[in-house]
Amino acid sequence: MTWVTGADGSAYGVRNLPYGVFRWGGDDPRIGVRIGDFVLDLAGAEAAGLVLAAGALGRTTLNAFLALGRPQWTAVRQRVTELLTDEAHRSAVEPLLVPLAEAELLLPFEVADYVDFYSSEQHAGNVGQIFRPGQPPLLPNWKHLPIGYHGRAGTVVVSGTPIVRPTGQRATPQGPVCGPSVRLDIEAEVGFVVGVPSALGDRVAAADFADHVFGVVLVNDWSARDIQAWEYQPLGPFLGKSFATSVSAWVTPLDALADAFVPAPAQDPPVAEYLRDVPHLGLDLRLAVEWNGEKVSEPPFATMYWTPAQQLAHLTVNGASLRTGDLYASGTVSGPERGQVGSFLELTWGGAEPVKVGGETRTFLEDGDTVTLTATAPGPDGTTVALGEVTGTIRPAR
Ligand code: CA
Repeated sequence: MTWVTGADGSAYGVRNLPYGVFRWGGDDPRIGVRIGDFVLDLAGAEAAGLVLAAGALGRTTLNAFLALGRPQWTAVRQRVTELLTDEAHRSAVEPLLVPLAEAELLLPFEVADYVDFYSSEQHAGNVGQIFRPGQPPLLPNWKHLPIGYHGRAGTVVVSGTPIVRPTGQRATPQGPVCGPSVRLDIEAEVGFVVGVPSALGDRVAAADFADHVFGVVLVNDWSARDIQAWEYQPLGPFLGKSFATSVSAWVTPLDALADAFVPAPAQDPPVAEYLRDVPHLGLDLRLAVEWNGEKVSEPPFATMYWTPAQQLAHLTVNGASLRTGDLYASGTVSGPERGQVGSFLELTWGGAEPVKVGGETRTFLEDGDTVTLTATAPGPDGTTVALGEVTGTIRPAR
């Protein structure tokens, strides 16, 4: 139970406590924790001696805090929980609560490197059928390693940032043309935020996942399918993806998701030794995709074939180092049903089966369209933990 008005029973109760960075009343950006419809100013709390975090909370991004490591993450979380539940702290802490509606939410961490995986068997299979009809839906390597690529960290933006329709080359029957994308899409994903770095040359074991990864964000990997289809062979995604990737303003700590870990789908054929994670756990995150305010899909993250621990082990098996602020995303989350897919490419089957959204017909995104991704997870004692939403509205090409 928390003394914060309205927070008990909300999905942002005291069992959640996600971290973000906010600006309020013309002040510099500050680190905060969300509780109900308020943000607790952690910079103020640390300055007042209410929380000890080696000065890491008095910064304008989460990176210094992320670098502290799991014992400190857990200690700060326990202390914040104490401050928000014990009436004895109320008089000191209440002045540090900022109404969420008055706070401007900023990108919570400086993104170091950004990697995007492709770990949903259903998504990979659907894309295979759409792009390579008549051939096996999965390529021969897919069940042996988590497929991924390095994305563009500098264009990762916070939820709410408008998305300018990208311009680029696409193939037409008359040859390639350059212009605004006409097949602009979303990818509903879950991103993992690295706190503790690793040394160049070292390999990070799947078992060390929780020592390195601080928490989770929701990700929309905006994708221009026409640009992507023309450019991707032989080196993979490039400009069809790099124009913008949106993340939620709130980073949900793994500590808030302790009750959401569930057995991941069995893997056949057996995976290489370095990819064996015991126990083999995924996360029961239930995503929802809203298109212009209408829910069009509910992707289940628990169906992902490759787990975040396996992705981390694969990302570093060659000795590539981790940096504080690295973000790796899961890949589009798609379940087995049409109402569970994480892209409009799949929802409209390559644009061949338009859908009705808010009384209008859609295949891909039109200018002015808004997409919002949300997610919940089971918390302790029957509670629900919400992940921060990620939303964006399409602006016309420049
Ligand atoms: Ca993606």
